[in-house]
Amino acid sequence: MTAIAFIGLGNMGGPMAANLVKAGHSVKGFDLSPTSCDQARADGVAIAGSAQESVREAEIVITMLPAGRHVLSVWAEILPQVTPGALVIDCSTIDVESARKAHALAKEQGLGSLDAPVSGGVGGAKGATLTFMAGGTAEAFRQAEPILSRMGKKVVHCGEAGSGQAAKICNNMILGISMIGVAEAFVLAEKLGLSHQALFDVASTSSGQCWSLTTYCPVPGPVPTSPANNDYKPGFAAALMLKDLKLAQEAALASGAATPLGAEAAQLYALFNGAGHDGDDFSGIINFLRGPKH
Ligand code: NAD
Repeated sequence: MTAIAFIGLGNMGGPMAANLVKAGHSVKGFDLSPTSCDQARADGVAIAGSAQESVREAEIVITMLPAGRHVLSVWAEILPQVTPGALVIDCSTIDVESARKAHALAKEQGLGSLDAPVSGGVGGAKGATLTFMAGGTAEAFRQAEPILSRMGKKVVHCGEAGSGQAAKICNNMILGISMIGVAEAFVLAEKLGLSHQALFDVASTSSGQCWSLTTYCPVPGPVPTSPANNDYKPGFAAALMLKDLKLAQEAALASGAATPLGAEAAQLYALFNGAGHDGDDFSGIINFLRGPKH
């Protein structure tokens, strides 16, 4: 049994902490939202009065927060209270620069740290089937791996500090671009009188094959489990896709990488979100691409 502190018990952090309790660990949590705390308490998490209090006896500290600024402010607050030898892991999706700053804060305190963002969404958090992409030293990864594997089915060491966040935004930039590509192909097929099923049957076994088509098909029918069959309820909300595409653009600007399609995808998802679809699944962008007359 490991003593774990878990800060940020929202849609993702709540079920992740609950899975650590189920695995037999002692979990002390904290969140600013009383509703999140109540749910976590019902799942067996001991609720602390503050973030600092939650970490005092922890061997592993995990944060799962909205953005880089939250992570940096919480880490600055808790790190002086963390026991020497404990490991601090951030599982939030944040910008690479903030992730590296967080590692530096931990190093100043003599603590090991890991950035370990996830893919798999709320379903993956509940079912303990997340994929973790980790950045940090080999020693930090070795210490974290048995804990992360209780919340996910795959844990990948991507490299040094910040590499987990880098892998996450590169993957999600592929996803945003490929979803728009697949959606455009279905819109064109409709104009050409080609059925959704015919395009699916050909492209899913041809060079157009990709996850956005075969797992997350943006039209109802060919893949019965895709959000298109459930009125585009998320799934993976368009607001989160836009967040990740913006992070990719920030990183591209900072590193000098040319990502013209990533930039276009960010713009299209900004328009889609701005039109009131931020709570829809990101595959709903197909309706936006069809235009208002459809
Ligand atoms: P959420 O908004 O449901 O949860 C975030 C929680 O952090 C909230 O409960 C909030 O009260 C808490 N919080 C904020 N500031 C705090 C502070 N200073 N101290 C303590 N608690 C604080 O968000 P979520 O969906 O759980 O996402 C968390 C992270 O995971 C984000 O970075 C998101 O991008 C990433 N992510 C989300 C999904 C998804 O499908 N929801 C998938 C992959 C990655």
